[in-house]
Amino acid sequence: MRYLGVLGGMSWESTASYYRLLNQGVRERLGGLHSAPLLLHSVDFAGIAALQKAGAWDAAAEQLVVAAQGLQQAGATALLLATNTMHKVAPALEAALSIPLLHIGDAVGQALQQAGVRRAALLGTRFTMQENFYRLRLERFGIQVLVPEPAAMAEIDRVIFAELCCGQFTDASRVFYLQQLQALQAQGAEAAILGCTEIGLLLDGCSPPLPLFDSAELHVAMGLEWLLMP
Ligand code: GLU
Repeated sequence: MRYLGVLGGMSWESTASYYRLLNQGVRERLGGLHSAPLLLHSVDFAGIAALQKAGAWDAAAEQLVVAAQGLQQAGATALLLATNTMHKVAPALEAALSIPLLHIGDAVGQALQQAGVRRAALLGTRFTMQENFYRLRLERFGIQVLVPEPAAMAEIDRVIFAELCCGQFTDASRVFYLQQLQALQAQGAEAAILGCTEIGLLLDGCSPPLPLFDSAELHVAMGLEWLLMP
């Protein structure tokens, strides 16, 4: 029996989407009363976000390793870490686990590659946009990443932590995000990566200027593929 571990709560707004989409996916494929065999560990995000802000990534990694090992001991046979940003510490998780970590960057990179995209705009937290860990993972798939200018990056990051992770989805922030996508399209982006698992909730129902690749949806699809593999 396959059990998919989900390490979430970062934030729970998007983890709730993971839970719904994983179950919907299993129902669509298997029908009837079938639902997703899952084990969920949902953290208190305040503590993790404080460690991110303080640059205490090793301490954050330690907390996630303990949680992930708990999921493994409880019977999970693969793991989804339901946040892009915390994939910064993916190597620590991989080293501590004997089950596979289904990497969100691989889910996004594979989808872009299959769509023939070479240059993609990336929106996410400042860590995801500015640091190397996410960009390098996408480069494995031949994807070049374009990010907004520094002031826009700061505002995108502020909106994620002050609004989206708190369940606030405002028209002003939606318009601002769409403007950033337009600016990156003008610089040559062929598609946009929603590289933060809450951004899809903000842009749901919008008419974006370029094709969107939602990291949460693609990560769920990767989890479903693993779960339903014969
Ligand atoms: N859920 C967001 C992400 O995908 C941000 C929260 C976090 O910093 O983990 O990166």
